[in-house]
Amino acid sequence: MLYRPLGKSGLQVSALSFGAWVTFGKQIGDPVAKQLLHAAYDAGINFFDNAEAYADGQAELVMGAILKKSGWRRSSYVVSSKVFFGCEDDKPNQSGLSRKHVIEACHDALRRLQVDYLDLYYCHRPDDSVPVLETARAMHDLIAEGKVLYWGTSEWSGAQIAAAQRACAEHNLHAPIVEQPQYNLLHRARVEKEYGSLYESAIGLGTTIWSPLASGLLTGKYNAGVPKNSRLDAPGMEWLRDLILKQPGIEKKLAAVPKFAAVAAELETSLPRLAIAWCLKNPRISTVILGASRVEQLTENLGALDVVAKLTPAVMKKLDAISKPVAD
Ligand code: NDP
Repeated sequence: MLYRPLGKSGLQVSALSFGAWVTFGKQIGDPVAKQLLHAAYDAGINFFDNAEAYADGQAELVMGAILKKSGWRRSSYVVSSKVFFGCEDDKPNQSGLSRKHVIEACHDALRRLQVDYLDLYYCHRPDDSVPVLETARAMHDLIAEGKVLYWGTSEWSGAQIAAAQRACAEHNLHAPIVEQPQYNLLHRARVEKEYGSLYESAIGLGTTIWSPLASGLLTGKYNAGVPKNSRLDAPGMEWLRDLILKQPGIEKKLAAVPKFAAVAAELETSLPRLAIAWCLKNPRISTVILGASRVEQLTENLGALDVVAKLTPAVMKKLDAISKPVAD
C-alpha cells in the first residue's frame, strides 16, 4: 500500500481507502461488511469513510461493532463521519450545519462508531442557511475538545471552501483541510479546475475522492441494462438508479465505457483497475475511496495500485481523448 499526506496536513492516508455508503447496514449483511473491513485493513488500507446519513446511522453502527471487536490499535486507522443530512426525523435542528446539529451529530457518530474521537469530520454538503463562521467555530471547538482531529467539507464549491478558510484565518480557528468530491473518468471539472488555487494555498487542500467507478458505470456492468444483484438493482435504490441512468449525457458516458475498456485490454488490465489507477495518477488526490459489495471486488480493485505505472503520458492522452468530451 502507498500512503500519502492529506493535503498539507501531517496525516498519512492510504492511497486507496474504503467507504460504507449504501453497503454497510443496507445492501450487504454484517458478516460481509466484516470480511470487507478486515480485507481492507489487511491490505494496508488505513482510512474508513462513513457518515451519519449512511443507512440512517446503521452504517456507523455496523462499522463501530467491527472496529470494536477487531483488536486494531486506534492509532493504526483513520475513521471519518459526516454531518448535514441527519438520520433521525425531519424536525428543525436534526440536519444541516448549525452549531447544535454539528455537535450533536458528532456525539452520535462517536457513540455509533464506538470511538473516542473522529479523525476526520466532514460537512457533507454546504448549508447556506447557516453562517460559515458558526459551523467553523463548532468544528474548531470539537477539535479543541479532542473529539475531532481534522475537519473538512464534501461537495462544497471552491469559493465556499476559500470563504471558510478565510473566516478561520481571520478568527484564529482550525480551518478545513480536506474536501471529499466525486472524481472519476466521467466527472472531473471540480477537482481539476475549480479547486485549482486551493491546493497551493497556505492551508492547502487534501482530497478524499468518492465514486471512482461512478457507482459501477466504470466497470461496464451497466452497458447492457441493469444486472441482477448490482447496486442500481438493489431494493430501495430506485432514486440512485434514476440519478445515474437518467443524468444528462448518460448515453455518451455509457458509449465511452467500452472505449476505456479497450485501453484497459491493451494494458492487460481490467476496466475497474484502470479507472481507479487513473484517479490515483492525479497528484492532487490524497486517497481514492473504494466501495465494494463483496470481497472479490475489493481484491480486484486493490490491483489498481500496480496499474498506475502503466499510465504513461501516451496512455493518459488516449484516456483524455475519450474522457474529456463526455465528463462533467
Ligand atoms: P464506486 O464508484 O467505486 O462504486 C462502488 C460499487 O461499484 C460497489 O459497491 C459495487 O456495487 C460496484 N463495484 C465495485 N468494484 C467492482 C468490480 N470490480 N466489479 C464490478 N462491480 C464493482 O464507489 P462508491 O460510489 O461506493 O463510493 C466510495 C465511497 O465514497 C463510499 O462508500 C463513501 O464512503 C464515499 N462517498 C461519499 C459521498 C459524499 O457525498 N461525500 C457520496 C458517495 C460516496 P455492486 O456490486 O452493488 O454493483
